Amino acid sequence: MHEWSIAYSVVKTLTENFNKKISKVTLVIPLFSFLDIEILKEAFNELKKENPIVENAELEVKIQEPTFRCRNCNREFKFSDIQQQVGEVKNSYGEEYPLHLMPELLPAFIKCPYCGSHDIEAIGQEIYIEKVEEYGAVERVS
Ligand SMILES: [Zn+2]
Repeated sequence: MHEWSIAYSVVKTLTENFNKKISKVTLVIPLFSFLDIEILKEAFNELKKENPIVENAELEVKIQEPTFRCRNCNREFKFSDIQQQVGEVKNSYGEEYPLHLMPELLPAFIKCPYCGSHDIEAIGQEIYIEKVEEYGAVERVS
């Protein structure tokens, strides 16, 4: 039920920091979070009913592709650069491959495409609110 706690923190953050009605919120979640977007939206839609600030807010979710940094050669690379390696891990383990269950194990399976080191870290793995749109922020003439 990780989705519910995320939805709860989004609603909490919005109600604590805004005093105008919100029309839309854009949430960025990392590719490896494996959150169920549908459950997340459902949770948000359920929790938002409790507060007039967010009751009409729409939740948009963007998936962020992580960037990796090699601690050995200090180079950065994208998920697309190691996609083939991830594919090989997936092929050797099948559907329940370890990266799906435990994305934090990634450095154990993936090596730096430049120097081959396993000492890599993922950057951009955090969940954050990218954008909040309020009602009345844009004046419209009808
Ligand atoms: Zn390297």
